[in-house]
Amino acid sequence: MIVQELSFVVTRTRELTPTVFELVFEVASQSPLLGFKGGQFISIVIPAGSPFIEGASPGRNLRRAYSIASAPENRSIELCIKKVEQGPGSGYLASLKPGDRFQAFAPYGDFTYRADRERNACFIATGTGVAPIRAMILSKDYSRCPPKKALLVYGARSEEELLYGAEFDRVPELQFVAAFSQPQTQGTAFKGRVTDYLRQLAQLDWATTDFYLCGSGAMILEIKAFLKEKGVPKEAIHSEAYYR
Ligand SMILES: Cc1cc2nc3c(=O)[nH]c(=O)nc-3n(C[C@H](O)[C@H](O)[C@H](O)COP(=O)(O)OP(=O)(O)OC[C@H]3O[C@@H](n4cnc5c(N)ncnc54)[C@H](O)[C@@H]3O)c2cc1C
Repeated sequence: MIVQELSFVVTRTRELTPTVFELVFEVASQSPLLGFKGGQFISIVIPAGSPFIEGASPGRNLRRAYSIASAPENRSIELCIKKVEQGPGSGYLASLKPGDRFQAFAPYGDFTYRADRERNACFIATGTGVAPIRAMILSKDYSRCPPKKALLVYGARSEEELLYGAEFDRVPELQFVAAFSQPQTQGTAFKGRVTDYLRQLAQLDWATTDFYLCGSGAMILEIKAFLKEKGVPKEAIHSEAYYR
């Protein structure tokens, strides 16, 4: 798909967790519609002159990437954004209200679902890294040709930081595992990090599984090293690192 510069209008905002908010928007009426694949991202223009940009890039626009969290078939586009202290991008987006407009370039990225009924899929995300995986799982590409078996391992610090959790429990044929590094209750969720969960997993067929990793660069490197030990070829590992 060709990258376009589009104008968007905010329709809704809300807090998803104490540290993550949701921004919902649509293409503004004069713009063409945004075509994208589940897993791709949008590059938002943080305008010069925005109070959030001062010091970071005086006099110049900045751009920040955000994975689309909603299905490509929806008119409304959803993002989930971590509040980063003093962050120009997340600060600017947190300031937007329904009716506000912003500019962005999209779509970008090749972190997309590889449809193959003969293979399993293991999705691994931490924090807002679950956004592109949610878009893949909700897409028609996925429902038309789901994997043989699907597992989503989603890591967060604690229960209150889990994004969309109950929603994944309802996806047919998806095994959903929440892993909390600092759980607040004695629930049934896995206690530990996503890497700890993978390490104790006995029943996964490593050779016939495609892996989709998204979140911090450190988590992705750690999991790639582990998958290498398990003999998983590079071609079966797809990843998107948000930051180092
Ligand atoms: C392809 C891609 C997709 C992305 N999708 C998302 C998304 O869906 N939601 C989202 O919140 N961010 C996402 N990011 C990160 C986003 O682009 C910005 O880096 C982030 O919003 C911080 O920008 P800032 O200007 O507010 O702060 P900056 O001052 O630029 O960043 C400060 C620091 O914040 C930390 N940080 C950045 N992003 C995160 C995060 N998501 N969670 C925890 N710590 C973080 C890093 O250590 C970074 O160095 C994505 C990045 C990439 C490359």
